[in-house]
Amino acid sequence: MHAEIISIGDELTSGQRLDTNSQWLSEQLGMLGIRVLFHTTVADDLEANRQAFLLASQRADVVVATGGLGPTADDLTRQALSETTGRPLELDQPSLDHIRNLFRRRQRPMPESNVIQAMFPAGSTPIPNPHGSAPGIELAMDRPERGPAWVFALPGVPAEMKEMWQATVRPRLERLLGPEAQRIRHYRLKCFGVGESDLEQMLPDLIRRGREPQVGITVSHATITLRITASGATDEACRLAMQPTIDTIHQCLGDLVFGEEDEELQHAVVRLLRGSGRTLATAEIVSSGLLSQWLSDAAGAGDTYRGGLVLHDGQALLAAVHEASDAVARHGLDSRELAALLAQQCRHLFQADYGLALGRLPLSDPPREQDKIPLAVAWAGGVATDWAPYGGHPHIRRTRCTKHALDFLRQHLLRR
Ligand code: AMP
Ligand code: MG
Repeated sequence: MHAEIISIGDELTSGQRLDTNSQWLSEQLGMLGIRVLFHTTVADDLEANRQAFLLASQRADVVVATGGLGPTADDLTRQALSETTGRPLELDQPSLDHIRNLFRRRQRPMPESNVIQAMFPAGSTPIPNPHGSAPGIELAMDRPERGPAWVFALPGVPAEMKEMWQATVRPRLERLLGPEAQRIRHYRLKCFGVGESDLEQMLPDLIRRGREPQVGITVSHATITLRITASGATDEACRLAMQPTIDTIHQCLGDLVFGEEDEELQHAVVRLLRGSGRTLATAEIVSSGLLSQWLSDAAGAGDTYRGGLVLHDGQALLAAVHEASDAVARHGLDSRELAALLAQQCRHLFQADYGLALGRLPLSDPPREQDKIPLAVAWAGGVATDWAPYGGHPHIRRTRCTKHALDFLRQHLLRR
């Protein structure tokens, strides 16, 4: 069974609003084992809507549409469905009662234009919308020589759409699919430390198309995600089908894998610190507080992350950090020695077990591909330093070098 999603609205086709409904619905359909072949986005235009529904019903067995069910003149989904199927709009009294009640509860008179929201193509089924005035429409569109295409039209308001999906559309699709239906589940492993193609080379034939379970690879701001996809009759069957692939990835990549699903490097760092009951403080220049923000969010309450110094420039550094002028005079502002001093001092200042410092960018203008930033980890017994690369697209430079600092600490914690 294949699906198509139709998103309806001028605000989407004109670029004023991002179509997030399609993303959410695709994930939901995927979990039911229904592959989505097409996303169609169409303006508030009756003829364009008619064409979209006609085409979708020919090339997909399930069509989920969102938007265009409101009471105003630019909401055309019900008319489009009525015209495409040749079924006249008829009043559904329970839906009208629901809409009237809704207005009564809000102590407002119901405008006459809202009656249209209780009109449905003959033979269709209303989909209840407990918290909104636009019920959805379920409709079987006949197709010559094969079964019907199942059309579900839902409102565009994301909260209403999701509620109606969970309460009515998903259970309905599960019944249509029957007990034999295959589910699709995904599992993500997160990696850091090498490039995408180097990582792929380390995995024996795993990324091949058509492999079961399938493994996909994507990279975002230098974090590589391996997405494993398996199908099976139950969640447990999917998990079992994935396990050998997950094991192989761990064997091949070792410490390059830092987490799973939504985890980021800061979560891995916090997990390691908590595991050993240790605390952390930071000092950062180039990353403008990113390190501190990420770690604060990941650590939440408790004192695993004690706090951080955010220094905007060399002057702030000289003012805030004891003995900085000495280190600067001897080694320079862009030195590993200065990063080491920062790591040690923030460790003392916040009385933490570890100090992590990310230094300043050499002042080349514009930044050069080979630029790198000093970083350091300090602990009671010593200090270790390294360089974080600062090349790549300007959009990712800062997050990438911040991740390098976190990964340096992570590797250090793993080895201790
Ligand atoms: P409608 O049901 O067409 O009146 O849409 C109501 C509101 O829902 C719109 O003004 C948008 O703010 C929002 N909306 C509609 N379609 C989408 C979509 N595909 N993704 C995200 N938001 C949407
Ligand atoms: Mg609309």
